[in-house]
Amino acid sequence: MDLNTVSALHRPRTRDEIGPWQAGDAWLAGGTVLFADPNPGLSRLIDLTALGWPALALTPDGLDIAATCTLAELEEPLLPPGARIAGLFPACCAALYGAFKVRTAATIGGNLCTALAAAPMAALIVALDARLTLWPAAGGSRQVAAADFILGLQRTVLAPGELLRSILVPACNMDLRWAFRRIALNDLGRSAALLIGTLAADGRFALTVTASTPRPLRLDFPALPDTAALLAALDAAIPADGWYDDVHGAPAWRRAMTQLFAQQIRSELAEGGPA
Ligand SMILES: Cc1cc2nc3c(=O)[nH]c(=O)nc-3n(C[C@H](O)[C@H](O)[C@H](O)COP(=O)(O)OP(=O)(O)OC[C@H]3O[C@@H](n4cnc5c(N)ncnc54)[C@H](O)[C@@H]3O)c2cc1C
Repeated sequence: MDLNTVSALHRPRTRDEIGPWQAGDAWLAGGTVLFADPNPGLSRLIDLTALGWPALALTPDGLDIAATCTLAELEEPLLPPGARIAGLFPACCAALYGAFKVRTAATIGGNLCTALAAAPMAALIVALDARLTLWPAAGGSRQVAAADFILGLQRTVLAPGELLRSILVPACNMDLRWAFRRIALNDLGRSAALLIGTLAADGRFALTVTASTPRPLRLDFPALPDTAALLAALDAAIPADGWYDDVHGAPAWRRAMTQLFAQQIRSELAEGGPA
């Protein structure tokens, strides 16, 4: 929709050209969220795509993903040949059930900064234990672990005028084995529960829970737990009133699906599943 309070579009080509942050400013990436609501408080958009960041780069440190990388670009990232995590990218991108028009515009940064419970990019980066680079308004940069970026529903650690610059998937996590489960109330619906389990070569197991809780949750174990220990850990981490509640699923059903998926993921990885 038209944002009829916006009177300026700023398109910086470098960080220096961004200039001071002003009241009424908003970062613009793909615009699929920003242009979905009236946003009467906005007067200027700062278009991050003008900065021309390369979408993806494979470096010795890992896969460097620009915040402006679109979901379409992320579906088949350049990874080392045979990297086990390759299939997790299309699985997570497909969990945002937008048509191709949405996926070619929607960015990973926009998805993380919007911080909906059903943000599939949050599931991806938390499961892969990625690190985020932020650019504070005052200059310099700071790093934050993926699991710490989203604080709650539509709340992140970003301060006013701070932006998400990039996401690094560490090279040491390219060969994680993984298992993925997702459910929604209908085929094209928003995720009600999306879980990813990862198993490292040294036996460490992590379970990432999203969509059924307001913010992503990651449970780490030194080894694959038995079913009882896994369910106990979920219960300890998520209080009875900690399940997300909206039109996309009742809390009790989300809890049941989360428990079922956690057990399925544990079994799949214990048996040496597909990925
Ligand atoms: C049909 C449809 C289905 C959708 N399904 C889902 C879904 O299942 N799950 C889901 O989570 N979302 C969903 N969305 C919402 C949206 O498309 C995605 O969250 C998308 O990834 C947002 O990215 P964007 O680049 O379009 O963000 P924008 O609209 O450009 O920005 C969104 C917000 O993030 C801020 N922002 C963007 N980039 C940065 C940055 N680098 N640093 C700091 N702030 C930034 C903006 O200022 C704005 O506040 C859906 C949308 C549609 C239309």
